[in-house]
Amino acid sequence: MSTSRHDHAASIENATIEDLGGGLYAYVQPDGGWMINNTGFLVGRDGVTVVDSCSTERRTRAFRAKLAAITPAPVRVLVNTHSHPDHTAGNGLFGEAAIVAHEQTRAELLVKVPPLDSIWEPIDAGSVPPAPPFLTYTSGLTLWIDDLRCEVKHVGMPAHTTNDSILWVPDRSVLYSGDLLFNGGTPFLVSGSVTGAIRVLTEQIAPLGATTIVPGHGPVCGPEVIAGVLGYLRFVLSTAERARAAGLTPLEAARETDLADFAEWTDPERIVGNLHRAYADLGGGPVDVLAALGDMVTYNGGRPLTCLA
Ligand SMILES: [Zn+2]
Repeated sequence: MSTSRHDHAASIENATIEDLGGGLYAYVQPDGGWMINNTGFLVGRDGVTVVDSCSTERRTRAFRAKLAAITPAPVRVLVNTHSHPDHTAGNGLFGEAAIVAHEQTRAELLVKVPPLDSIWEPIDAGSVPPAPPFLTYTSGLTLWIDDLRCEVKHVGMPAHTTNDSILWVPDRSVLYSGDLLFNGGTPFLVSGSVTGAIRVLTEQIAPLGATTIVPGHGPVCGPEVIAGVLGYLRFVLSTAERARAAGLTPLEAARETDLADFAEWTDPERIVGNLHRAYADLGGGPVDVLAALGDMVTYNGGRPLTCLA
C-alpha cells in the first residue's frame, strides 16, 4: 500500500535549466523524490547568486556545470533556503561564495546527525567539505541583482523545518520557495510544523501573488500549487485529530488512512512522519524523529525508503 512512486527519470542527465527570463533560472532535478531537490540562480552583470546546493558531490558538480554553460560570471552568493542536506550538502563546492542563511539554518548544520543508513537506500554522497552558512540573519535581508530587488525572508515560525526562508523577486513575481512547496511530491513536515506550514502558506506565501514558483522539489509551477499543498496539510491535520481522539498511534493512523489522490505523489510514506508531527502540533509532546523515521520504514513494508540521489 505504501510503495514510493518513482520513475527512472531521476538520473542527473535529466536535470534541466529553466529560463524564467531576465537572468532568473531554475535548476530542476526530476523526479523530485528524496534528496533530489531543485535549485535556482540569478545572473547579474558581474556575478551570480545561487539558491541552494544539491545533495551529493555528483549532483552539485552537474548543477555547476550546467550553470557555467549559461554564464561565465562567478558565483558570489549562495543562499540556503533551509538546513536539509539535499539543499546544503553541496555547499562546500561553492568555496568562492558568501554562504547566506537564517541563523538557525547554520545552527542545524552544526549539529551532528546519527547515521540514517537503515532509513534510506544508501547514496554516494561523494566528498564535499562541510560549509555551513557564515553570513546569517534573523528575519531576512535584501539582495540586489544589479538593480533587481530580491527579498530573502525567514518565515518566522516552524513550517517545513524550523528555519525556512524564501527568496522573493517582487518585480518579476518569481518565488523561490524552498521546501515550503513541493510540486508532485508529498510535503514533509517532521522537522517543522503542520499547523505552522498552513499558517505560513495562507498568511505569507499566497498573499505574495507569485506568478512563477520554483518549488523545492518538482517542476516549476504557478500559484495553484499552494492550494494543493494546503489541501494535503489540512488532510494530515484532520486525520491526526480524529486518530488521536481514537487512541491510534501515528503509524496505526497512517495504515488506516486512504491517501486517495495524494497517493499519486512521490514518497507517500511521509504521511507517517507528518502524522507524528501533527500529533505534536495538537499537544502530543515532542516528536522522536528517529522513531518517526523508523515508522516510515515499517509503513514501507520494512524496506528502506527509495532514494535515487
Ligand atoms: Zn527540506
